[in-house]
Amino acid sequence: MFLRQFFDRNTYTYTYLVADKNTREACLIDPVFEHVSLYLNFLQELDLKLISALDTHVHADHITALGELRDQTYCNTLVGSRGDVPCASDGFRDGKYLHIGNLKLKVLFTPGHTDDSYSFYLESENQRMVFTGDTLLIRGTGRTDFQNGNAEQLFDSLHNKLLTLPGDTIVYPGHDYKGWTKSTIDEEKNHNPRLLIKEKKEFVEHMNNLDLPNPKWMDVAVPANKSCGKRQDISHG
Ligand code: FE
Repeated sequence: MFLRQFFDRNTYTYTYLVADKNTREACLIDPVFEHVSLYLNFLQELDLKLISALDTHVHADHITALGELRDQTYCNTLVGSRGDVPCASDGFRDGKYLHIGNLKLKVLFTPGHTDDSYSFYLESENQRMVFTGDTLLIRGTGRTDFQNGNAEQLFDSLHNKLLTLPGDTIVYPGHDYKGWTKSTIDEEKNHNPRLLIKEKKEFVEHMNNLDLPNPKWMDVAVPANKSCGKRQDISHG
């Protein structure tokens, strides 16, 4: 398999390109609107064909590249729920697999940060990895105070789903604000302060008292992302 991590400096967002080296088919996870030409150049340089682009959830902090990538490459666009994002090709179903050439990405429904948050687990060539979106971050988690976020659900998604993966599974998060690029399930289990809170009630209380400001672009990004990022009438300015 081939894996590359891209970083958006404005929103600290990670985008992942996962490809089957043999069939040359590729998928982009959480692509950012501003970097479409960078992704397309890269795909061309490496002779890869984009077959799908997906969002782990409807983002509140950046505009998705899904619509633009679809227009330029005819790739599939996948999101948590097509009910919320009717422009997308399809929604995800928990426990099903997404195929990228011969690679199989297992869909894990991990609500809590938002009610449409999914993670994706991949095993290939004796390596295990999970793309966690904003459900599990390095030494942190996504917040739960907007977009139907729910701290109880997040607790269950973390403890009953992600932490049950093999300990050596590499964690690839949707953001990192300190420049950390990856972690493992074991490392997070042992050192992530939010995962060290073992009581659900205590976790919910902690999450409900974070009192964070809303993301800068939230009012623009959420409606734009429900249109696959194709709201050209609005700009970041
Ligand atoms: Fe998010």
